[in-house]
Amino acid sequence: MPSCRACVLTCMDFRIQAGVANWLQQKGLAGKYDYLSLPGASRNFLSEGKINLVEDSYRLHHIMEVYLIHHEDCGAYNLGHLPVEEQLARQRQDMETAARILKERHPELKVCLAFLYLDGRMVELA
Ligand SMILES: [Zn+2]
Repeated sequence: MPSCRACVLTCMDFRIQAGVANWLQQKGLAGKYDYLSLPGASRNFLSEGKINLVEDSYRLHHIMEVYLIHHEDCGAYNLGHLPVEEQLARQRQDMETAARILKERHPELKVCLAFLYLDGRMVELA
């Protein structure tokens, strides 16, 4: 039986969907992840209940990894007027907060942070 390896939490933005899917495929994860596509990815991880969705994936499919994938010019952050490295730095704070919460609750989970530039480059932060 095929098994689920990961839960992916990324943004709903249509511009990033192909890039995210291609990157996950390159990592050998095609067909092996639950997919959560919500505004701002891990922004407001607790207050918007996103953690509950990741924990549903954890409970139902026994995932081992969580991918938090943010992107350049995210409408949920409205920071498109800033240089992209500043956008990344601001979003990274939320990603690291979400990762810390997940690791506190589920120390065995591997949490990966990544940021997609709109030119298609993906940078792994952790
Ligand atoms: Zn976005």
